[in-house]
Amino acid sequence: MQSGPRIITVANQKGGVGKTTTAINLATALAAIGEQVLIVDLDPQGNASTGLGINRRERDISSYDLLTNSATVEQAAKRTVVPGLSIVPSTLDLLGVEMEIGMAPDRALRLRQAFASPSAARAGFTYVLVDCPPSLNLLTLNSMAAAHSVLVPLQCEFFALEGLSQLLETVEQVKRSINPRLTIQGIVLTMYDGRNNLANQVVEDVRAHMGEKVYETIIPRNVRVSEAPSHGKPAILYDLKCSGSQAYLQLASEVIRQERRLRAA
Ligand code: ADP
Ligand code: MG
Repeated sequence: MQSGPRIITVANQKGGVGKTTTAINLATALAAIGEQVLIVDLDPQGNASTGLGINRRERDISSYDLLTNSATVEQAAKRTVVPGLSIVPSTLDLLGVEMEIGMAPDRALRLRQAFASPSAARAGFTYVLVDCPPSLNLLTLNSMAAAHSVLVPLQCEFFALEGLSQLLETVEQVKRSINPRLTIQGIVLTMYDGRNNLANQVVEDVRAHMGEKVYETIIPRNVRVSEAPSHGKPAILYDLKCSGSQAYLQLASEVIRQERRLRAA
């Protein structure tokens, strides 16, 4: 039996591929089945924080404080509109973190240390999803050092696979150096538009290259999903019935099945 939360980082160095949307909606679906879920917003843009209705004034304690050892997980976690879902918000201070801790020997281990502390255990989270910035920088490295696994959203567009090998190589490097337990949780195809022949080709290509790592669920492009963040809500709360929300619920059930298999093994 694993102690402490299962930590999954949602990473892809490309922007606009659905990392934040996936983190928010997967987290919401897990919370809905009774898990105690925490999102750590590691993107200075703070889209996960905004998308969960945390306004700037409420971000006095943030992920920056976790990385600079000035707050604990318990202190930094804020409740959201979703029951069972909390978030450590981000602020623009994160932009300076590389300069501030970049010379410290433990610079890539700060997030892991934050979750290894007794106060993190007290907070009682069963899942932590980390929302990464669109870069393979020190922030993303911190997430990979802390995580059990990496969840990779890939947008169904022509250059989907481009950059994936670099991402997978980074995962391998982290495994070899600072985090041997790290695995690929899975690859999820996002923003699929069935009317677009190219999208179908991309799905085939990604499945051919990555095989079993690719989730069966494909997240469709759906306007309700893109509207939800401006209401400060996950799509699953904003419009449960829309095709995007339904797909995220289905993705969550795949993840849960995976987790059950892992625990049984
Ligand atoms: P990332 O975090 O990788 O930069 P986001 O999750 O922020 O990507 O998504 C980029 C943009 O696309 C956002 O405006 C988001 O609302 C929108 N978006 C994400 N997924 C979908 C979807 N399935 N359908 C429609 N719009 C989406
Ligand atoms: Mg994002």
